[in-house]
Amino acid sequence: MAADAGLVNGGASNNEGFSKMMTEMRKVFETGRTLPLAFRLRQLDRFYDMVNENFDDMLSASNKDMRKTKFEAGSYELEILKIEAKKMKKNLKTWVQREWLPFNILVPFDSACIKRDPYGLVLIIGPWNYPFLLPLQPLVGAIAAGNCCILKPSEHSPHVSAKIAELIPKYLDPECYKVAQGGVQDTIQLLDQKFDYIFATSSTCIGKSIMQAAARFLTPVTLELGGKSPVYIDEDADLEMTTKRILWGKCINLGQTCIAPDYVLCSRKAQTIFIENAKKYLQEWYGDDPKTSMDLPRIINLNHFKRLSKLLDGTSGNIALGGDRDSEDLYISPTLVVDVNEEDMLMQEEIFGPILPFVTVNSKEEALKFIKSRPKPLALYVFSKSTATMDYFIDRSSAGAVCVNDVVVQNAWDGLAFGGVGDSGMGRYHGRYSYDTFSHEKSVLIRSFSKTGESMASVRYPPYSTRHMQIIGAFVKHFTKFNIPQYKPLAYLLSFIGGVASAIAVVGARWITPKKR
Ligand code: NAD
Repeated sequence: MAADAGLVNGGASNNEGFSKMMTEMRKVFETGRTLPLAFRLRQLDRFYDMVNENFDDMLSASNKDMRKTKFEAGSYELEILKIEAKKMKKNLKTWVQREWLPFNILVPFDSACIKRDPYGLVLIIGPWNYPFLLPLQPLVGAIAAGNCCILKPSEHSPHVSAKIAELIPKYLDPECYKVAQGGVQDTIQLLDQKFDYIFATSSTCIGKSIMQAAARFLTPVTLELGGKSPVYIDEDADLEMTTKRILWGKCINLGQTCIAPDYVLCSRKAQTIFIENAKKYLQEWYGDDPKTSMDLPRIINLNHFKRLSKLLDGTSGNIALGGDRDSEDLYISPTLVVDVNEEDMLMQEEIFGPILPFVTVNSKEEALKFIKSRPKPLALYVFSKSTATMDYFIDRSSAGAVCVNDVVVQNAWDGLAFGGVGDSGMGRYHGRYSYDTFSHEKSVLIRSFSKTGESMASVRYPPYSTRHMQIIGAFVKHFTKFNIPQYKPLAYLLSFIGGVASAIAVVGARWITPKKR
C-alpha cells in the first residue's frame, strides 16, 4: 500500500516509519495543541461533519466489504457516531472542569481536586465487523480527552479502512490524528512502539497478544473482546416476542456482532415454540429464500466461512431450521441447531455467525451453573416475566452487561457503559465513560500558608511523642465520622471552629507533653 497524508504503512521500513511518525506526533502533543477546549470542540465538530457529509460514501464502503445493508450501517454505526460526537461536544465543557472534592474538616484550609489529563499519544485498534463504529467511537473519546491518536482499522474491511484513511486527514488535524493501514504484521510493528494508551477491539486471543505487547512498556489498555454471550429463556416469558428479539439480534450483520446471542439455554418446550415462531418470522423478514434478501449481509471472508462451515459439519446437534450455505457468495442462512450438548464444537468457541445452538436446561439454577462454568461473557441475556428470575441472574452472574427481555440494545442505551469482564475484556467506554477512559485522573492537593492550618498540623513535626500520637488518633476517630459536602459558608465556619479547637489542642499538648522523650 502506498504512503499518503495521514495514511502510514507499507514496506520494510515500517518500524522506522512508525517511530519517526510517533516522534513527530509527540512533539505536536508537547506543544499543547490538543489541550484547549476550543481545539477539542472544533475537532468534534469536524468529526460530526466528516460522518454527516460522507454518509453515503461510507455506506457504500461497508457494503463493498461485507454487503452490509444501508439500514444497518447507517443506524447501527454512522448515526451512533454522530450522536456520540454531538453529545460529547455538548457535555465536554462541564467534563473538562476540575472536579473539586468536598470540604475536609481535617484539612480545612486546603483544597483538592481531580484534574483529567490526556494520556498523550494513544493507539486505537479496530476490528472488521462494525468497521466504522468500532475504531471511530473510541476516537471521539480520545479527541475529547485531548490526546493525539493513531487509528489502526482492520485489514479485513479494506474499503472501510481506506475510507477512514482518506477522511481523517481531510477533516481532523492531520498532525494530531493519523490512520495506519496494513495487516497483522503492521499492527504488530505498531505495537513495538511505546504508546501512552492502547484501546483495542478484537477477539480474546488477539487481545492477549495486544496486552503482552503493551506490558513491555507498562502501557495501560482497554480491551473490548469477544466470547460466547448466552441467552436464558424462562418458560413464563412471552415466547413470541422473545423469539422475535433474539432472532433479530442474531441476524443483524449475519450474526457477526460481538454481543449477538451466541447460544440459548431453555427447556424443550420453550425450544419447540421458539423454532415454530422463528420459521414464521424468518419467512416474514427475508421471504422464502433468505439468500435472495438484500437485508442479510455476508460472512466477511472465506476463512470465516470455512470456520463456520466446520462448526456446522462437526455438530452433534440437529439442524432444526436453515443450514444453507454458499461459499462463493459467502452466505450461510440463519440456522437453529437443537439438542446440542456441552462438548459440541458449537459450544467451544464464539460462533460469530448466523448459527444459534440450543442446549436444554430444566431450571434457572442449571442455566446459571452452565454459564458460570465458562469464561465470563460480554453480555448475558435473560427472558422472563419473573422479577425473582431476573434478580437471580443480575445478582449472581458476572458478565460485561446483563440485558433482560431483549438482546444487543443495551449497547445503545445512553448512560450505560460498554465493556467486558474477564475473558470478554477490561475497561469500558461510550459517552462519559469514553472521556474518562482516555483521561488520566490526576489527584491535586493545594495547601495554604495559613498559620492556623500550620499549627493544626504541627503535631507531624518531630520531636514525636506519645501525646502527639494520641492527638492524631483522636482526630481520626472523631472527625472521619463526618462527610460534610462542599458547602462554602459551612466550610468556613467549621474551619474557624476547627482551627480554634486545634490551636487549643496543640497548645495544650505542648503544655502537657514531657520535655524529654
Ligand atoms: P480482526 O482480525 O480485524 O483484528 C482486529 C485488529 O487486531 C486488526 O487491526 C488486526 O490487524 C489486529 N491483529 C490481528 N492479529 C493480531 C496480533 N496477533 N497481534 C496484534 N494485533 C493483531 O478482528 P477480529 O479480532 O476477528 O474481530 C472479531 C472479534 O472481535 C470477535 O471475537 C468479536 O467478538 C470481537 N469484538 C468485540 C467487540 C467489543 O466491543 N467487545 C466489538 C466487536 C468485535
